[in-house]
Amino acid sequence: MIVLHYTGMPDAAAALERLCSPASEVSAHYFVFEDGRIVQMVQESRRAWHAGAASWAGETDINSCSIGIEIANPGHDYGYPDFPMRQIAAVTVLCRGIQTRNSIPPVRVLAHSDVAPARKKDPGEKFPWRTLWDSGVGHWVKPAPITEDGALLALGDRSDAVAAMQQSLNQYGYGVAVNGNYDSVMHDVVAAFQRHFRPERVDGVSDESTRVTLRDLLAARGRVRTIAARARDLARLAS
Ligand SMILES: [Zn+2]
Repeated sequence: MIVLHYTGMPDAAAALERLCSPASEVSAHYFVFEDGRIVQMVQESRRAWHAGAASWAGETDINSCSIGIEIANPGHDYGYPDFPMRQIAAVTVLCRGIQTRNSIPPVRVLAHSDVAPARKKDPGEKFPWRTLWDSGVGHWVKPAPITEDGALLALGDRSDAVAAMQQSLNQYGYGVAVNGNYDSVMHDVVAAFQRHFRPERVDGVSDESTRVTLRDLLAARGRVRTIAARARDLARLAS
């Protein structure tokens, strides 16, 4: 899989230095500056230390099965500026190459917060997943609009409806147990889901829009086309 991060430090040079220092015990395969320059720090075939304690689709050694990309952005603690367009363009091209070289399915391009919801918020709700999706990277569906319809499930609730939501999140890949308890793990997983797929409101509350968006993602998952398949279609149309 590919795991996307923001650096979460005030300046990019300091973040790059930290990622190259053995003492910090963190590393990533790639670093993308605000202006779109890319630095490769670790070969794709080698393991980097970027994910930490994490889980996705039952796999917990995420560092051993992922390529990590650090995107220079100060993050939530330092004002969280928008990602510049040329930086996103660079990330998109980089991901396309990585996906193709390593046969990574589009649904396995994830946020650090997806695989470590209790600890991480990066790259955060401002990250333009839709832009990447338009170029064949990652998985995205149009989020269902936020309405007053449907029940709100939140921290402290305990019901079959909570269990059903946990089941769906689990099915998509999130590390949450199906126990019917809306505990802090569930709250953090829902917030991570919203950051990625329904960024308009990130509150950890399971509302109708969040549930419908997840349902649509699950329904569309089997239909996500790889870049190679899309290219074959285009070639067929052109001939
Ligand atoms: Zn991260």
